[in-house]
Amino acid sequence: MTDATATAKDVRVRFCPSPTGNPHVGLIRTALFNWAFARHHGGTLVFRIEDTDAARDSEESYQQLLDSMRWLGLDWDEGPEVDGAYGPYRQSQRTEIYADVAAKLQEGGFAYPCYCTSEELDVRREAARKEGRASGYDGRCRDLTAEQIAAFEAEGRTHIVRFRMPDEAITFTDLVRGELTFAPENVTDYGIVRANGAPLYTLVNPVDDALMEITHVLRGEDLLSSTPRQIALYRALAQLGVGNGATPAFGHLPYVMGEGNKKLSKRDPQASLNLYRERGFLPQGLLNYLSLLGWSIAEDRDIFSLDEMIAAFDIADVNANPARFDLKKCEAINATHLREMPVPEFVTACDPWLRAPYAPWAPEAFDQAAFEELAPLAQTRLTVLSDITANVDFLFLDEPAEDEASWAKAMKPGAEDVLRTARTQLAGAGWKAESLKEAVLAAGEEHGLKLGKAQAPVRVAVTGRTVGLPLFESLELLGRDRTLARVDAALTKLGTA
Ligand code: GLU
Ligand code: ZN
Repeated sequence: MTDATATAKDVRVRFCPSPTGNPHVGLIRTALFNWAFARHHGGTLVFRIEDTDAARDSEESYQQLLDSMRWLGLDWDEGPEVDGAYGPYRQSQRTEIYADVAAKLQEGGFAYPCYCTSEELDVRREAARKEGRASGYDGRCRDLTAEQIAAFEAEGRTHIVRFRMPDEAITFTDLVRGELTFAPENVTDYGIVRANGAPLYTLVNPVDDALMEITHVLRGEDLLSSTPRQIALYRALAQLGVGNGATPAFGHLPYVMGEGNKKLSKRDPQASLNLYRERGFLPQGLLNYLSLLGWSIAEDRDIFSLDEMIAAFDIADVNANPARFDLKKCEAINATHLREMPVPEFVTACDPWLRAPYAPWAPEAFDQAAFEELAPLAQTRLTVLSDITANVDFLFLDEPAEDEASWAKAMKPGAEDVLRTARTQLAGAGWKAESLKEAVLAAGEEHGLKLGKAQAPVRVAVTGRTVGLPLFESLELLGRDRTLARVDAALTKLGTA
């Protein structure tokens, strides 16, 4: 049996997370690939919320999903808050649709009630395993007679609804992995409705893909084993006239590996999208990196914009091999995007990190004009936006930040003498970066020190840290009085230490 696939102009893809917990980077990679595919083809991205598991789904998680997609700029064409012709887009609002389809499947003989208890299933599965037989559902309730059903009911048994898998292999061409075949003994009849009547993911996901006329299913490799089941269900739906009768094409995106070559798990702290947002990753930086998890725009090219990704994205170029999540590379790519921003945009992007709760200074101590002078110097040095706070705090705090390691490193024996000389030189210098540099150079010469060594105690005295923005521009902005007062305070501390 061959399944019709859609032409490019009709592309309809979906991003359909379950609202459980916080969004993670693997999920966002899936959203991104679907979005890029839809945009590349001028198609439609459907955003569907798979909230049929009341025990695990939460409203908070739902709101976070929407908020995350908005922050990332991954817009959707149909779904929550924008609606569309195939709604509603929250599965919790589609219960009647599923009940109706489940009934049709049973009437058509594509599904049947299964009265086996989980204890009975366990015992039989164990026996099959011992005898080396396939251990999926054994089909016991496939052809129950009306009398057998009545007897089970009389016993007070409840039943689930099971989908009847065809007794033939299922073959499909995965857009990433090529042709795949699943033997019938490995894909057995499976539950689609719980004993309490609640429809399962196994039913609602393909039913909605059919009803929403999804043409391409791009999703994580972890779902590959459910694909032959879904294809069989699709074919049943087509026979029942549910949906437009076409089976979507499937493409399974490679696993994302974390530390120690283990699959990156949702619970991995590195996996949480919120973490990246709070550290001040740029959406374009993070998405650029996530796009590399299984795809590449060209050999030897890591940095590109989302528009460039859209123009180039082809699912056929996705690599089936597991992708490794490399935080260092993710940071480096973000830093490049930060550097490439126009300065005014960078200044605006820094804003949240210059205020409570991130900024350690009193709100009235903040000086926007002074910040804007330093911003271009900071822009080339940040990995993430939140780094801005420590880079400029010397300007807005009453006293420099205390960093013991920096102090210990810069204030070794002898530092006091250099600092004292530097103080004298600085006090006599014109208050411009160039003259301040001359002053510290001269102080260094007196002690036989190069500029780098001579400026270290000055930097720590004034900013609290051994690393930071170019020192002399910083001193110029800080001003003579505050600079000298800080050097004096450091000298006092050194003298009494
Ligand atoms: N709600 C499913 C999940 O989050 C969607 C799987 C799919 O894309 O088919 O795992
Ligand atoms: Zn059964």
